[in-house]
Amino acid sequence: MVRGDLLRKELGIFTFQDLLEHYPFRHVDRTRVERIASLHPGLDFVQVSGILIAHEILGEKRQKRLVARLRDDSGVIELVWFQGISWVEKQMVVGKRFLVFGRLGFFQQKPQMAHPELTPYDLETIAHAKILEPVYSTTEKLRAKGLNGQAIGKLTRELFKRITPQDIAENIPDSIRSTYKLIGRFQAFQQMHLPRSTQEFDQARRRLKFEELFLAQFIVQSIRLQRNRASRGFVFERVGDLFTQFYETAIPFTLTEAQKRVLREIRKDLGSGCQMNRLLQGDVGSGKTMVALLSLLLAVDNGYQGVLMAPTEILAQQHMQTISGLLSLLDVRVECLTGSNSAKQRKPILQGCEAGDVHILIGTHAIIEDQVKFKNLGLAVVDEQHKFGVAQRAKLWKKNTIPPHVLVMTATPIPRTLAMTAYGDLDSSIIDELPPGREPIQTSHRFDQTRPEVMRFIRSQLDQGRQAYIIYPLIEESSKLDYENLMKGYEEVKSYFQEPKYYISMVHGRQSPEIKETNMKRFVTGDTQIMVSTTVIEVGVNVPNATVMVLESAEKFGLSQLHQLRGRVGRGGGKSYCIMMTGSKLSQEARARLKIMTETNDGFKIAEKDLELRGPGELEGTRQSGALQFKLANIVEDRAMLEVARNAVVDILTADPELQKPENQGLFLYFQRKGGRTGWSRIA
Ligand code: ADP
Ligand code: MG
Repeated sequence: MVRGDLLRKELGIFTFQDLLEHYPFRHVDRTRVERIASLHPGLDFVQVSGILIAHEILGEKRQKRLVARLRDDSGVIELVWFQGISWVEKQMVVGKRFLVFGRLGFFQQKPQMAHPELTPYDLETIAHAKILEPVYSTTEKLRAKGLNGQAIGKLTRELFKRITPQDIAENIPDSIRSTYKLIGRFQAFQQMHLPRSTQEFDQARRRLKFEELFLAQFIVQSIRLQRNRASRGFVFERVGDLFTQFYETAIPFTLTEAQKRVLREIRKDLGSGCQMNRLLQGDVGSGKTMVALLSLLLAVDNGYQGVLMAPTEILAQQHMQTISGLLSLLDVRVECLTGSNSAKQRKPILQGCEAGDVHILIGTHAIIEDQVKFKNLGLAVVDEQHKFGVAQRAKLWKKNTIPPHVLVMTATPIPRTLAMTAYGDLDSSIIDELPPGREPIQTSHRFDQTRPEVMRFIRSQLDQGRQAYIIYPLIEESSKLDYENLMKGYEEVKSYFQEPKYYISMVHGRQSPEIKETNMKRFVTGDTQIMVSTTVIEVGVNVPNATVMVLESAEKFGLSQLHQLRGRVGRGGGKSYCIMMTGSKLSQEARARLKIMTETNDGFKIAEKDLELRGPGELEGTRQSGALQFKLANIVEDRAMLEVARNAVVDILTADPELQKPENQGLFLYFQRKGGRTGWSRIA
């Protein structure tokens, strides 16, 4: 059947279930009949009723069309057909009353309808007309074959004549349905397509949305449960000398309560005998590195090796510096491996890893390449998760016979809703507290014409011995325009700080790693006071003495990026400032972003807002995730419902993980028909 093929190809409709789930995107209220005089271009589909006063065929061949005129007591509307003319013409009886339904158009300011639905106006018609008419999406190809939205509607109506409630078995347990007042599944589909009122439609939408979230949560939570029970992991049972010695003598501060709590969570995982897959979320500056380091020491104490993977060369080197500094008095061999190591430098490191002499390996993705072999890798910490692909992380699992424990750290807090869906199968730890003594960063928005003032302000900070960042956007490393802007900015800054002189480091993506490194270092050591850079310094860079962050063309940055960059200051060097510079022309969205930035320093709040502004589809790394592909639900708008669905799922899985109880029979059978609960690839 040609239509069947087309439906499959064009809309992915294979089965009657698919057709049922091809939801109308809206309904047209056919309980209304408009007066012709009151039609206006703001309306879309409308229904009118009137007497046919004239009809004629105009034009020749391809131009041929049937034009009719319909009058009610207020005015006249023109109806046009280009196809099926002879069939329509047979219905035309001048003086007869018709009910006409279709999409309203205007031609020379007069109302018009092309290819309307035309029915004689009698009592039966009226009864039929008083529904909410579903409107379906379709494609050009389907339309060309006569399968427009209305035809799909007809198919659906046909379908409902043939199926019974048994064909659409319930999959949400009764107790949950009654607690949350959800209508039955069959009824929901029926009311979704053919509601008799908007209330019916709303009930249906609510039930089916809940079902989507409930089933998705069921899968995610099942994967997590299964993994926690089934996957073997190394047991780190000892808190040994290294950990203790380090904890007691080498940490230059006391851990925050949040850091301690998270460490307890990690230690529990590491001792459980199952593989850890944990997401560690903490705002910029919350001290994730220390948590990572202590976890790595636990691995070493138990005879395993550990790796710490960073997304950029600069960051890897910075981690190396910090960590080897902290560990200098301990008997631990730490090495750093990045893409820029020469073959000669690599050799002893690779050998050391394979022999087990290298205890902790820090580096970029270079450390997951195949040549890098470990004697006994037990823990992998991945810093700044959003820059690492799923596939790269999966490679880690293959580095040992039993997969090493994985701790994924992210400085972009993940909104709760996303954490529950896209990352729902990972266990999650949150550092929700900053080290003491951090003053909130004062954030302001300034227009470009006030730059001299901003420069004076920077100078006043430099005069107090502080340092400053000036960051330019670089959407793509190769973008010529951005590069030129950076250079222009650099020249400008240079001239401002000529006399009395302050020194400037410049870092951007077109420099060689060595130059980048040298320039970075000069800033880190305080040889230069100003860092002019593109966003290459975004992640992780730590210069506590820097107190000013100027973001040029701030409107070009995304919200989480703005927050990340701001987090480079306020790291213990005293009262810090973030100044977002823009021109005066700003989109509404850009304004909204800047406003949030000036209002809060809370990364979790910002992440929620970001999700709200951009929508779930736009978030990095989540697009391919099945956990977010909903037809009806939207994890931002429906977050309350998501929470409810998740809790319901957790309750079921806790009480009846195998779905053996009679009340969970429907759910069990549903997944059995679907071929199991594990539809998705692992996300971690
Ligand atoms: P992030 O979570 O952004 O990776 P870092 O681990 O780089 O944060 O820590 C930021 C700064 O805070 C570092 O200079 C670190 O030494 C310091 N720090 C971490 N934990 C504490 C603490 N408990 N008390 C004081 N300073 C801390
Ligand atoms: Mg960090």
